[in-house]
Amino acid sequence: MSRADNAIDLRSLSLEETKELVAKHGGKPYRAQQLWRWVHDKGIRSLDEASNIPKSLRASFDEAGVILSSLHVAEVQRSVDGTRKMRLETSDGRSIESVLIPDGDKMTQCISSQVGCALDCQFCATAKLGLMRNLTAGEIVDQVYVAKALLAEEMPGQRITNIVYMGMGEPLHNFAHVTQSLRILTSDLGANLSYRRITVSTVGLVPGIRKLGQEDIRPNLAVSLNASNDEVRDVIMPINKKYPIAVLLQTLREFPLEKRRRITFEYVLLAGVNDSLDDAVRVAKLLKGFPCKLNVIPFNPHPLAPYKRPSVEVIDAFQQRVRDLGIATYLRTPRGDDIAAACGQLANREEPKQSELVQLR
Ligand code: SAH
Repeated sequence: MSRADNAIDLRSLSLEETKELVAKHGGKPYRAQQLWRWVHDKGIRSLDEASNIPKSLRASFDEAGVILSSLHVAEVQRSVDGTRKMRLETSDGRSIESVLIPDGDKMTQCISSQVGCALDCQFCATAKLGLMRNLTAGEIVDQVYVAKALLAEEMPGQRITNIVYMGMGEPLHNFAHVTQSLRILTSDLGANLSYRRITVSTVGLVPGIRKLGQEDIRPNLAVSLNASNDEVRDVIMPINKKYPIAVLLQTLREFPLEKRRRITFEYVLLAGVNDSLDDAVRVAKLLKGFPCKLNVIPFNPHPLAPYKRPSVEVIDAFQQRVRDLGIATYLRTPRGDDIAAACGQLANREEPKQSELVQLR
């Protein structure tokens, strides 16, 4: 095992944990806050940049194998619609992707939670990679810090207003690191993002949803429904065999939502698979009475899936029917599809070796 495998990564620690670590290394208590600001507000790449932290403390960290993991921006692609896709490299040479999406006065960042994904949804490019590993909390939050730096260069004054965990991976399959990243990103000494502007999207891992409901920091929840019955969902999202629609919806009914908050359901429209008017009626029935909205996402084609995007007429008719039946529905227009940055198109060119893949338990 290399030293980095069991190293303590400063970027992954909560403020409390940072305080404990600083104390353990004989640093004064206020050093923890100073360090935290360097790491999570200024987004330093190396501890050498933390200029007001005593050299002795940094040396003590170094000796004990305390590191500061940093993502490396390997490539930035810019779409004609203003979307930017970053390919980021982890310290062990893995590639992940993160997308910045300008929309009016909002700037939403779509972040990854895993390298690859274990869930095997048939329409998704990331699924075809398999799961290589979880991202650490530090790697999750660092996506936001490198994006901040990119914006400072290219669009001075533009802040990141919203975060969606809709990049590569299944966030609730990496529960501990994702919830730790939420604590870090919402800290007022760091990125200071409101949990109301953060959305975690899941395939519908029922135990993870239950656990998230018990967390202090509960982000908005988005659930990828993608089918109107178990028959189709079993095929396009194999996880449905374990947690079928009725069980998923019952779990969501029990999810503690704040007043005026709604659950978002996502629905990828696949031509001839889940886009009929009967599907629309069944979806509306399933969601009746739920504080929710439905985000319809026309399938974004990629070479690894056999599906097609329905015509504009079919998409409109589907949405109209759902709306007529009383469900608020919005169209997620593809962003950045010219640079393969749209939903379900995130898959870097890294080829996993079969032996490296992690199976879903
Ligand atoms: N694993 C989580 C986070 C990924 S979010 C989840 O599944 O919710 C990605 C969203 O994009 C999901 O709603 C997914 O259903 C959708 N998606 C995946 N592949 C797509 C594709 N090719 N076209 C359009 N949407 C896609």
